[in-house]
Amino acid sequence: MMETQNGDKQSKYPQRKFFHRKKFCRFCSDSNIRIDYKNTAILNNFVTERGKIMPRRITGNCASHQRELALAIKRARMIATMPFLASDSK
Ligand SMILES: [Zn+2]
Repeated sequence: MMETQNGDKQSKYPQRKFFHRKKFCRFCSDSNIRIDYKNTAILNNFVTERGKIMPRRITGNCASHQRELALAIKRARMIATMPFLASDSK
């Protein structure tokens, strides 16, 4: 009911256009998704364009799933389905 100052841009939420910041772990909320190192379609959602694993703050995963995910990504790298780093700079 009570509307806080909507015209004010300095609201509580700084409108980060990064990702939809779901606080729920995607794997916990959706049991259909399985963390699999062969499932690069899923894994790709959790790496940056350069192939780095996204931090938990951004993905919103829980600790155990984030661990599992990181492991899967590393495994995927091993069998070369995913790049270590997309760019060869540095
Ligand atoms: Zn989880």
